[in-house]
Amino acid sequence: MIDPDKIAEQVRMCAACPKMCRHVCPTFFAWRSDAPTPHGRALLLHQEIIGTHELDNRGIEVLYQCLECSHCLTWCKPEIDIATLVEIKRRDLVQQNRQPEGLKTLTESIRKHHNPFEELHAKRNNWVKIEKGKGIPILYFAGCLASYREKEIVQDTITALEMLGHQVIVTDDEWCCGSPMFRTGDVETGLEQARHNVDVLNVIDVEEIVTSCPGCYRILTQDYPENDLQLNKPVKHISEVLTVSLDKLPTVSFDGKITFHDACHLGRHCGIFDPPREVIAHVSGSDVVEMERNRENSTCCGNGAGLRTLFPEQAKKIGAERIRHAKNVDAQYLITSCPFCKNMLESQSDSSITVLDLPQFVVRAWKRRDVKID
Ligand code: SF4
Ligand code: SF4
Repeated sequence: MIDPDKIAEQVRMCAACPKMCRHVCPTFFAWRSDAPTPHGRALLLHQEIIGTHELDNRGIEVLYQCLECSHCLTWCKPEIDIATLVEIKRRDLVQQNRQPEGLKTLTESIRKHHNPFEELHAKRNNWVKIEKGKGIPILYFAGCLASYREKEIVQDTITALEMLGHQVIVTDDEWCCGSPMFRTGDVETGLEQARHNVDVLNVIDVEEIVTSCPGCYRILTQDYPENDLQLNKPVKHISEVLTVSLDKLPTVSFDGKITFHDACHLGRHCGIFDPPREVIAHVSGSDVVEMERNRENSTCCGNGAGLRTLFPEQAKKIGAERIRHAKNVDAQYLITSCPFCKNMLESQSDSSITVLDLPQFVVRAWKRRDVKID
């Protein structure tokens, strides 16, 4: 529930604010209109609460244009958490069956196939090639996008984990983590997926769970416990696992500058900024060249919270802008640590820049290594 008194107070502050946050909002950049901005969204919610303007179809569209990237929160002195307010309002809209049609298809796919892509569940793990190695067992939770659309990332994550001496385990019973549903308002469908995953993961005998997807990482470590769903082992992001074993990683010199794109779920939402940078610096021998927006001030790739499903042209425009940021610093390599970001950024890049997910970068270095690894 949105607290009407709180939002009323916040919107009063919003009305008197110079609204500079709109200049970091990717949807203001994509639409160049005052409606799809943090203030525009706060105002829509406020008008509905005080009864001056009911939320109509245009208003619903504006709420579903939010990427939930939380970039506006880093700028907002009164700390108005637009992403959370939007997410709460989306829950009401789903309960009233007023969500956009495109999301209904997504929901059906997740209910039926346990992935957002209408792909058969039986095909989820058909990328799996795992050495029957020794070492500390670790469970890899691959996530839907990497499993169905970025198979090189899952294979390279497994290779990287094996390189560190782990015995990698995956389960055929992994379902969508639920993130697309939590973020777009269908929490009940998200919880169905989440409950199943907790039951499956809690009976597998491993030291920890690793995921390469920041969306999965955020929901497994934050939304599951907030909904009384407890995993009985720690969950790590692949960048954290790699950074504690830097001495086992290859070191290779790369021709050209390397930059890094912080995924919103990993950076702003989970506070993981340094581990991927440390891995890149160790492997390549030099620090990343930072783009004009980085760390807490990083801009979304355009692939967040269902935007690419509902508004593909604007989502791609946001992705193309991020590629421009990377080119502005003359980067030859744009590394991210998120399959969604990698997928979007690569789709908007050209042959002058190579876009890689962190495990791909590490394995590429491993294949070209010019030092002996024990
Ligand atoms: S969301 Fe915050 S920074 Fe943006 S206009 Fe409102 S008060 Fe100002
Ligand atoms: S969360 Fe992101 S997309 Fe949504 S209003 Fe804030 S800056 Fe804009």
